[in-house]
Amino acid sequence: MEKLTLIVPCYNEEEVLPFFYEEFQKVASKLKNYNTEVIFVDDGSKDKTLSIIKEMAARDDRVKYLSFSRNFGKEAAIYAGFQHADGDYIAMLDADLQDPPSLLPEMMKGIVEEGYDSVATRRVSRKGEPPVRSFFARCFYKLMKRISTAEIMDGARDFRLMTRQFKDAILEMGEYNRFSKGIFGWVGFKTKWIEYENIERKAGETKWSFWKLFKYSLEGIIGFSTAPLALVSALGILVCLVAFLFLVIILLKTLCFGDPVAGWPSMTCIILMLGGIQLLCMGILGMYLSKTYLETKKRPIYICGETNLNETKG
Ligand code: UDP
Ligand code: MG
Repeated sequence: MEKLTLIVPCYNEEEVLPFFYEEFQKVASKLKNYNTEVIFVDDGSKDKTLSIIKEMAARDDRVKYLSFSRNFGKEAAIYAGFQHADGDYIAMLDADLQDPPSLLPEMMKGIVEEGYDSVATRRVSRKGEPPVRSFFARCFYKLMKRISTAEIMDGARDFRLMTRQFKDAILEMGEYNRFSKGIFGWVGFKTKWIEYENIERKAGETKWSFWKLFKYSLEGIIGFSTAPLALVSALGILVCLVAFLFLVIILLKTLCFGDPVAGWPSMTCIILMLGGIQLLCMGILGMYLSKTYLETKKRPIYICGETNLNETKG
């Protein structure tokens, strides 16, 4: 029988895990033709998440787990899951049931019957989300569409089913600064998109503050586009042109009207503006440099504390 492995990153999900397990059992019994197993990746939770997972694993040998030594972030959890998933098909989904496991049979059809390499999901509405967050999310996707080579869909969720070949391609991308939505788009292959209305979290609360999301979006931009660097060069040229124009104007003015000493306020403005632009450009350069710095250190993406899987990789 072919095997389907589900990967579920969990960070402080004690409230929602029992519901998830129920759904898992339901969907596993629907997918009778497959050996379904689930790998919970505990991302350094501070509540009872790990002990709940261990209880489930003791009762049910389809439940595997891996626990990090501290919180490494969702991207690291996804990567660890991929490294240990040995199914013929691999799916990743959130623990909070915002990615309904009941969609899995339909997604399976996309791969097995229709011949796609991966089936991805996107939400068509952002119901129940703070409006400010929706607004910035939309802006981010619009921007990424323009400046990035990897295809990144608006509203795309990380909920995805894929073949082993697709998973192996993702594992080949061993970068330290990970942005899954970009990575999925970058590797290519034929992807089917399934749309659904946004579902609110079953229990517990979101782990993403606005600030965390903002930093994550920068990760996406820096990881999958060099447009900001080109923008900086363009800005430099623009400022030079303006300066040249100014020079000509001042030269003509001096020739026609002599040279009365005036204009220190305008001078201050110019110095301040140029200083600001220079600092901004240095900041952008610095962001790329800092990512390169972290990348060259080749630190492990996560450190495993405990697991019931056979081998541990880092
Ligand atoms: N998550 C994680 N590590 C983190 C933050 C989140 O593994 O540092 C997991 C979390 O347990 C959940 C998924 O990532 O399964 C999505 O998180 P959440 O539902 O809080 O995000 P949202 O749906 O609000 O974007
Ligand atoms: Mg969620």
